Parts: sequence; structure tokens; C-alpha cells
Amino acid sequence: MAKVFAITNQKGGVGKTTTTVNLAASLAATKRRILLIDLDPQGNATMGCGVDKDAVEFSVYDVLVAGRAIGETVQRAEDSGFDVLPANQDLTAAEVELINEIGREFRLKEALQAVTPHYDYVLIDCPPSLNMLTVNALAAADGVLIPMQCEYYALEGLSALLNTINRVKQLINPALEVEGILRTMYDGRTSLTSQVTDELRRHFDDKVYSTVIPRNVRLAEAPSHGLPVLYYDKQSKGALAYLALAGEILRRASKPSPEAEPDNNLNTQAEQIHG
Ligand code: ATP
Ligand code: MG
Repeated sequence: MAKVFAITNQKGGVGKTTTTVNLAASLAATKRRILLIDLDPQGNATMGCGVDKDAVEFSVYDVLVAGRAIGETVQRAEDSGFDVLPANQDLTAAEVELINEIGREFRLKEALQAVTPHYDYVLIDCPPSLNMLTVNALAAADGVLIPMQCEYYALEGLSALLNTINRVKQLINPALEVEGILRTMYDGRTSLTSQVTDELRRHFDDKVYSTVIPRNVRLAEAPSHGLPVLYYDKQSKGALAYLALAGEILRRASKPSPEAEPDNNLNTQAEQIHG
């Protein structure tokens, strides 16, 4: 049965989509069966996987609004070895169309039930807001992965997100947990970065991934080629960082105790990249 992670932060441009696409590719490279769900009408994750958002006949909109099966709607990201449930601007209408529907928060969760046995991980790329789409992702998820930049205002935004997560936990998904906090576009040379890191560790302890994602131009270039960075420049710091993140997530999943960390290839790469 798949683990379902919502990649979310209502702040825009923090690396949600970059993380979803590149984590999907890195986990798929370790032979895990991956479904990426694009839940953002911008369709950036869809395009970043090499699927033309304007050419798809059906998208996640049809799944949420018309009850179309996910299995009949996914596209294969051929070059990267995982499945994509695409999104495009049709999705902006979903919120309005679902407004009077009973159980609208559970549309994605219900649709996922038929396909979770076929995957190891389902990664949901959320839009930069705490709207009904994000609530659908949180209702369907086991864990929330929060990408964030180490900036002064980042922690302020985090408390709004944590309130939403707690509300969802109380009202519709008691099993929901924060899976991890990922520091993105990381520059270890600034003192602000280490202050924010200290603050994050005080609040979230070992939920803060020890892997950090450095600022790396290859990560920004890869989407225009419709490729995860692993297949655009596999030697780049960005590609190694996302492989390391996949390794850290897999190790956490196999070892409930945070102290126990077996060594393996990905672990070694992770150590090269830690900030
Ligand atoms: P939105 O809130 O609009 O959905 P997002 O949180 O999904 O944004 P991304 O689209 O992943 O954020 O990233 C924002 C921009 O920063 C993109 O142009 C992306 O290519 C670039 N970017 C993301 N991560 C990195 C990185 N580690 N190094 C360099 N550029 C990055
Ligand atoms: Mg995005």
C-alpha cells in the first residue's frame, strides 16, 4: 500500500513543484513505484515531467469533479519511470463546482483507494494556498512534506500551515502527520540560514530533514526540458541532493527509530550534501 505525501506550503515559489518532480524521479530510480499527482492549476509539475498540460484529454479535474478513475487518467512520464496525474487550468473550476457537494474534501482520497495498492509512494504537488484542493490533498495524505526557504518570514507562514494541518487532523484525517521539513534553495554561508535552522530544529526536532537542497541552476533549467534534473544533469548538486532526500525518506520509513541510520550509497551522497 502506497504512502501518500502532500508536498505543501501556502507560500509561493518555495520549491514545492521542484521537490515533487525530483523526489518522484529519485524514488523511481530506486525502483519504487511512484504516482505524482499535480493538484495545482498552474500545471508546472505536469510540464516538468514532460507531459503537455494543454494536450491531455483528461486530468485530475475529471477525477475530482466527474469521478473519473485515476488509473484511466494517469500518463506515463516515460523518461523518468513514474506515473503522472496531470493538471491544467481546468482545475481552477473544481473548487466552485464542488462547493455544494457533500464530502467534497474526500474526492481525492476516495479516488486514490483504487490505485494505492499499485504504488509505493504517491506524491501530491499542492497549489500555493490553503484552499479546497490543498484540503483534498491533506485529507488523502499520510504525511505532509513542507519545503521551505530559510528566510526571516518563513517561520511565520509555517504556523498558518500547521494550524491547517491540525484542523484537518481533528476534523477529517486523524492519521495525518508532518512527514518532514525540507530546507530548499539552501545557502549555508548566511547566518540567517543557521538561525532559521536552529529555530526549525527547536520546534520540529528530527522532522527537519538533514538533507538540504542547495540553490542550483540545473534544478531551474530542467523543467524547460520536461525532465527531472536526474535525467537532465545527473552529476549536478541538485540531482545528488534529491537522491539524498529519497535515501533519507527511505531510511526513515525502514527504521522507525531516528538514531538508527544504516549506511548505503544514497546515505554517502547525502553526507556530501548536508549543510
Ligand atoms: P508555486 O508556489 O508557484 O507552486 P513552488 O513552491 O512549486 O511554486 P517551484 O516552482 O518548485 O516552487 O520553484 C520556484 C522557482 O524556483 C522555479 O523557477 C524553480 O525552477 C526554482 N527553484 C526551485 N528550487 C530551486 C533550487 N534548489 N535552486 C535553484 N532554483 C530553484
Ligand atoms: Mg508549484
